[in-house]
Amino acid sequence: MPQRSPLDLPEGDPFGPHNLPYGVFTTPHAPHLRRIGVRYGSHVLDAGAAAAATASPYAELLGAATLNPLMAAGRPAWQAVRAEVLDWLTNPAHRPTIEPLMHPLTTLALHLPIEVADYVDFYASEHHAANVGRMFRPDGDALTPNWKHLPIGYHGRAGTVLVSGTPIVRPQGQHLPPAPDPSAASSSPAHTSSPAPVFGPSLRLDFEAEVAFVVGAPSPLNTPVPLSGFHDHVFGLCLLNDWSARDIQSWEYRPLGPFLGKSFATSLAAWITPLEALAPARTAPPARDVPLLPYLDDSAAEPFGFDLRIEVAVNGHTISRPLFSAMYWTAAQQLAHMTVNGASLRTGDVFASGTVSGPRPTERGCLLELSWGGRDQVRLGDDTRTFLEDGDEVTLTAWAPGPHGARIGLGEVSGHVVPATP
Ligand code: CA
Repeated sequence: MPQRSPLDLPEGDPFGPHNLPYGVFTTPHAPHLRRIGVRYGSHVLDAGAAAAATASPYAELLGAATLNPLMAAGRPAWQAVRAEVLDWLTNPAHRPTIEPLMHPLTTLALHLPIEVADYVDFYASEHHAANVGRMFRPDGDALTPNWKHLPIGYHGRAGTVLVSGTPIVRPQGQHLPPAPDPSAASSSPAHTSSPAPVFGPSLRLDFEAEVAFVVGAPSPLNTPVPLSGFHDHVFGLCLLNDWSARDIQSWEYRPLGPFLGKSFATSLAAWITPLEALAPARTAPPARDVPLLPYLDDSAAEPFGFDLRIEVAVNGHTISRPLFSAMYWTAAQQLAHMTVNGASLRTGDVFASGTVSGPRPTERGCLLELSWGGRDQVRLGDDTRTFLEDGDEVTLTAWAPGPHGARIGLGEVSGHVVPATP
């Protein structure tokens, strides 16, 4: 049987012509030469080589070692490059030039596709925030009084954003010793009554299934970006795993929020899907039940939500299917909020959604919620977990509705836990 060309995709391939996500790869023959690639089916187009071979005006942007120069070029350039890539992959006239520039995905090493500038993490799922509130503040309101008035977030650590596949070393730090009787601790996961902390490997290592938005075009200082500026500044999105050490986090977070319980590692997918590919997935966010200040008010705006169906697997067993469409705060509102005080945007800024949890227990996006603070066992086939053990592998995948019933696949983000450094 003749071998099929990598340019002839099976019907309905989630990485088909409507998707065209960007990444950065090296080949075994040139392990230090990073190149921009476009994923197409189970192959990757060497976009820099294609641009050079076709004398593209974008050869310099596509010949870079990261996506940052392309992202900085702005939306008209993103649209023009995307149209050109689509032409290379689908126009038969280009086939003799393009076919030799397609690499099987499995032969490549994938790298962090962007140079991360700042990293911000939000807290945009009402279901997640309410579940965590019920666990951490059982006697108070599930949501804090500010929650429905502004998208809550914190600044994370850009330097420890890692590409999918990077092993995650179990972090060490201060945490309170576990309560003597685990069942007695269920109503108080923070162990607030314990006297003094101990130092050691985290005993409550968790994942958080999130969606990250990547800033392309920068914005000047003292110039807030309105909701309508979202598409001019945001280049694309991808899956993100915000690894979280719950015991370190619950001891350190008051009063300034997450710090070392989060900053040891954040995994980003190797493929950034352009926003344009997700146009058919745009959807209205949930109804707002509190009037919003004008800079956040999206009641008359275009729909800024995205219908992304996420799946979380631990060691190959699916344990949750979070729905991104249930997120209360949209990325456009997060961008507007992040800049409303005059803070500028830089190319490569990443802002993540916060844990994606839907209304149903099967849609919860982290083990903290799935195990209800360690009270309940989460089934993994014949095995169970409350939090992650050494050797566990967490994989997030997702798809979005595309045109004419097609699916747009998002690049996976995976990582496995290795023991704490002795
Ligand atoms: Ca998070």
